Amino acid sequence: MHFPYCRSKCAYCAFTSSPDFSTQSKYIERLKTEIAQTSNKPKINTIYFGGGTPSVMERGYLAQIKQAIDRYFDTSEVVEFTVECNPDSVDEEFLRECKDMGVTRISVGLQSASDECLKAIGRAHDVSKFISAVKSIRKYFDNISSDIILGLPNEKEGDIEKAVELFCELGITHISSYALTVEEGTPLKASGYTVDDDAQADAYERVVKLLKQKGYERYEVSNFARDNKISLHNYKYWTGANYYGFGVSAHSLVDGVRYANIDSVTGYIEGAKKTAIALTDEDKKEEKIMLAMRTARGLDLNDFASSWEDLREQKKEQLDKLCALKVVEIKDGFLRATDEGFYLLSAIITELI
Ligand code: SF4
Repeated sequence: MHFPYCRSKCAYCAFTSSPDFSTQSKYIERLKTEIAQTSNKPKINTIYFGGGTPSVMERGYLAQIKQAIDRYFDTSEVVEFTVECNPDSVDEEFLRECKDMGVTRISVGLQSASDECLKAIGRAHDVSKFISAVKSIRKYFDNISSDIILGLPNEKEGDIEKAVELFCELGITHISSYALTVEEGTPLKASGYTVDDDAQADAYERVVKLLKQKGYERYEVSNFARDNKISLHNYKYWTGANYYGFGVSAHSLVDGVRYANIDSVTGYIEGAKKTAIALTDEDKKEEKIMLAMRTARGLDLNDFASSWEDLREQKKEQLDKLCALKVVEIKDGFLRATDEGFYLLSAIITELI
């Protein structure tokens, strides 16, 4: 569920989001209409409200959307319901609304434990605001996710260590660690900033090591969880499960067909139709390899062989080479990247598809 509003626009952000709240009520109405077009009340077991920033929505709107979901989906077995928020817009009213509508997990953005970095990327919060927001969240929820971005401007030695310490002290159960990409059309791109690839790779290595020491397991290339608190919702994207996406620029995948909504808020409100993109068998096969190899579980070779081909035979030469380089391993029928291999994932995937 995409809520495309934010208090300000971050310098690196290429998502469909805007600080113009004037369309908010029309957007919510359109979202309800879109949800109401779902037929046969499909059963779902996870819900994710993302954005944008759901916590900036006028109070009551999130609950209205949850009611629409309850009406058009079978939500009787929902085990995970996540809402994203930003530290500057967390208040008691928001948290109570979340609790009342059955939220089980809150995702709160940090991005960096350095105020200088946060300022450089135009975030609306500083580190102390993040700390107070998490303390408020913890009164209502114990499953909390947060994230950091590696390669930001003004990033200094020790910032990553500070962020990890902070996450541990605050009892964060899930951490996403993303590599910054400087996207076209963003103020960061216009500023001429470029990422130092080597420094970013070093930062990733340090994050992985530190989080491991602190008991967080990497279950996907950018995602780490403690106490098995993985994101069940996001895991579905990597394992090819069906999902329904609503709102501007939202995507869905239902029975092998991908649907995409327009990426303009005005166009969406005016009722622009979804585009359907039927995936070819080759698309599905490549996607399966790409997504499964991102996970620590890896690719189930027998399952893959039952739908497509046995990679142990068809890609024997490549697999022998990758195994000899110790960047992948085959164990119990699963092909997975080793710790070293996770740094070379794109190259490994290219060999396999
Ligand atoms: S809060 Fe998130 S969605 Fe909003 S502008 Fe910043 S990065 Fe983009």
